[in-house]
Order: sequence, then structure tokens, then C-alpha cells
Amino acid sequence: MAKIFKNDDHARQAARELASQVFRPIGIELDRLPDPESVAQRSSRLWEAFRAYRASGLHRMFLPGAFGGCRDELGKNVRVEIMQLLGHGDAGLAISIAAGSMPFFLGTLCANPKVRKLARAYAEDMSAELLGCWGITEPDHGSDWVIGTTPRGKNAKLTPRLRGVRDGSDYILNGQKSAWVSNGTIATHAVLHVSLDPSLGMHGQGIAFCPLDLRGISRGKPLNKLGQRPLNQGELIFEDVRLPADHFIIGNPAFFAFEGVGRSFLGEANRETGIMMSGLARAAFDETLDFARKTPHGNATLFDQEQVRLKLFQMFAQVEAANSLARHAGDLAEPNPMLFKLFGTKPGAVALAHGVNWVSSNFDKLQRGAWLGKSIQPRYNRGSITPRMLGIACKIMATDTAFRVASDGMQIFGAAANDTRYPIEKLLRDARASLIEDGTNEALALAASEDLRHW
Ligand SMILES: Cc1cc2nc3c(=O)[nH]c(=O)nc-3n(C[C@H](O)[C@H](O)[C@H](O)COP(=O)(O)OP(=O)(O)OC[C@H]3O[C@@H](n4cnc5c(N)ncnc54)[C@H](O)[C@@H]3O)c2cc1C
Repeated sequence: MAKIFKNDDHARQAARELASQVFRPIGIELDRLPDPESVAQRSSRLWEAFRAYRASGLHRMFLPGAFGGCRDELGKNVRVEIMQLLGHGDAGLAISIAAGSMPFFLGTLCANPKVRKLARAYAEDMSAELLGCWGITEPDHGSDWVIGTTPRGKNAKLTPRLRGVRDGSDYILNGQKSAWVSNGTIATHAVLHVSLDPSLGMHGQGIAFCPLDLRGISRGKPLNKLGQRPLNQGELIFEDVRLPADHFIIGNPAFFAFEGVGRSFLGEANRETGIMMSGLARAAFDETLDFARKTPHGNATLFDQEQVRLKLFQMFAQVEAANSLARHAGDLAEPNPMLFKLFGTKPGAVALAHGVNWVSSNFDKLQRGAWLGKSIQPRYNRGSITPRMLGIACKIMATDTAFRVASDGMQIFGAAANDTRYPIEKLLRDARASLIEDGTNEALALAASEDLRHW
């Protein structure tokens, strides 16, 4: 297959154009719509943004070559730069497209060939017919999912409400995911966290690829909220839904509970959010700098005020720090090139999917059994920074920075900051949501602090 992008600069340019010419103006327009139902409607400009994103080819960056993607074509950290640019354009839309890819990317690791085929169909889908979401939070389990990745998660009192009970070759699902599921009312497929063994609490979960047109699934109404308003959110309700067992990517709680899987999966999502929000921080700085330079103040401009320049430089330093951490976290998490080589061919991709499935199904036996004379025990990566530690550090640092810089920016705008014709108040609202999104910064820090115990 021909290369999707001629080179890395071509991909960066596509992201720059999409962010500034599509995400930014459409994000502002959608933010102002009073009714979230009208954001979600097929006639809304949300879908124009989705189609432009697909036409740019950037959605393929989440998938390896064997699935029509270009993840293995892009140079080191180019994907990080692209996600920062999209976060700079509009944070809500950037989160929407990232969540939108999750089931299809994870679907490449599913043993069921029809699911793997859908991953390829996603790469070819230019009209945004296929859209994913990540169903994890429940009405009464938010931070529990984060704390659940620590040894404290093995507690029957923390059991998720969405339960899966085996019935022949299917699981019967009953329960609910919360109104905060991004793309919740418009997604076609979900990555779904399901309790399979309630006695193990959060450690008793599996992860499934779930088509959302199955009988028994219903949706809530799109949520009306303060920030990231272009991002559709809504609940998913499951009543006696029959999901084939081979749609589980992690079908054995022992495999998920092996702290590496749960921890690294959530850590990866945190890192991606941090990367996008470092782009939002940059946008808040850029807008403030532009405003200060252009705004007359006495015989000069606001920029000529010493105190304003001082604050601007402090903002610049914070944005650069968040940017560096985002790139460092992206760098550390970059998969081994050998893995991409294997994943880049069809037989390799099939072998990998079956490998994940086999290890997942047999993990408790593997864990109990003697392998090279030792049983495999959950073990932290002592003495070195784990991708998850850095992923969480990146999320906390980038979102705190985005919020602080947007707030400092508002101070520099003065009263104009409250005028909705200026972008800074939207950036502040978007940044505020990110302190809670993907796990509150406090719960994430608490969970990651466990890693320090062994470091
Ligand atoms: C913009 C946005 C996008 C989102 N997208 C998704 C998505 O795509 N999919 C999805 O499933 N969910 C999504 N969420 C939900 C998000 O993951 C949760 O809101 C988050 O994990 C917090 O859960 P909660 O809202 O239930 O708060 P709670 O867990 O109820 O927390 C409330 C407060 O109590 C504190 N707290 C709670 N438990 C503890 C504890 N054990 N120790 C210390 N402090 C604690 C928290 O830090 C917080 O301050 C999104 C949220 C937002 C805002």
C-alpha cells in the first residue's frame, strides 16, 4: 500500500491545517450551541470536523500498516506532535477523535477476525460511519477505576456495576456506564470494562470490544456541560445484552489484574490526554501573547507593560515544561520497533492477536505454574521510570499547566476575558474539565504514588 504521508513534515502539515482551519473554528461554533443535542445531530458541523479529520488521513496514525494505518510509518514522536496540534485546535474535538479510535486500535488485538476486519474498515472509513468510545466510568465508580489499578482495587466492595455472566459462547451484560463516556450517544463501538469476577473487585474485570447496536443497549441524552462542549458525552445502558465471548480482548481477570495490564492501559490513556492538553496550554499562551501585542494601552500596547511581559514569560516556561514532559512520556511509551515489524504484516498481526488471547486465557495457569523455575508475580519495574508513572505525571502536569496558563491569560485579558467573543474563557473552561477527565488529578497521583514505594 502507498504511504499515507510522504514524510513526517507532510503529516505535521496535515495536522496543522486540520487544527487551525477546521477544529478551531468548528470547536468555537459548537461550543456556543446552547443545546448539546444539536451538537450531536448528523447535520451539525461536528460531523464536518470528523469527515475532515478522516480525509486528512490522520486517523490512520492509531493503526499499524497491516490494518491500513500509518503508525509504523511516522517518525519518533511525530504522533505526539500531531496530538498536541489537535489539542491546540480544540481540546474537546481532539479527545473525541482519540476516544473514537480506541475500540478499533484495541480491536487489532482481538482474536475474532470480524473484529480485526472492523479495525481495517475504520482506517478506510472516510465518512465517519465508525466511531468509538471508551466505556469505563460508572455512575458510582469514577476514581475507583483509577485506585483499582493498585493492590487496593482487589476489594469486592469496589466491584463494577456492569457485570458479564458467561452463558455458553456469550456473556450476558447488565449494568450501566456513566453519562461522562466521551462520544457516548453517537459512538458505534466501545471498549468496554466489564466485571467478570465480582469477588475480585476492580481486579475482576475484562475488556471487550462491543458493537453498540446489540439488542438491549440504550443511550442517555447528550450531556450539557461547562467545558469541552464540542465533545459529545452520554451514558450507555446494558440490559441482558448478549456479547460473544470472543469479543473480549482481555477475557481473563487474572490477566487484567496482573497489575501491568490494567496499569499500563490506563497510564497510556492518561499520557494521551496529557499530550493533547499540553497543546491546549500552548493555545492559551498563544492567544494571550497575541492579545497583549495587539491591544493598545495608553501610548503603547499591553505587551509593553513590564508586569504583563513577566507573566507571559512565566506562562511560556510552564508551557515548555509541559511540552517537554509530554514528548518525554511519548518517547518512553514508543513501542519496540520489532513489535511494529511483527504487527506490520497480516500474519504477524493475526499471530499477535492470538498470542494476546492465549496469554489472556491462560494467564492464571501461567501465573501459578513454574516458568523457568519461577512463578510470574505482579512486579513493578523497579529502579526505572515506568511508562505509567510518566503517563500520569504528564497528564497531571499538562492539565494543571493548561488550567493555570489559561487562568493567567484571563488575568492579562482583563475584563475582556469574560467576553465570549474572545477565546480565552473557552480555553479555561476546556482546561478545567481536563483536571477531572480520565481520572481526577488527585486520584491519579494517589494511584501512581504506589509506584514510588518500589522505586
Ligand atoms: C471531559 C471528560 C471526559 C471524560 N471521558 C470519559 C470517557 O471517555 N469514558 C469514561 O468512561 N469516563 C469519562 N470521563 C469520566 C472521568 O473518568 C471521571 O469523571 C473521573 O474518573 C472521576 O470520577 P467521578 O466523576 O465519578 O468522581 P469521583 O470518583 O466521585 O470523585 C469525586 C471526588 O472525590 C475524590 N475521590 C474519590 N475517590 C477517592 C479515593 N479513593 N481517594 C481519594 N480521593 C478520592 C476525587 O479525587 C474527586 O475529587 C470523563 C470525564 C470528563 C470530565
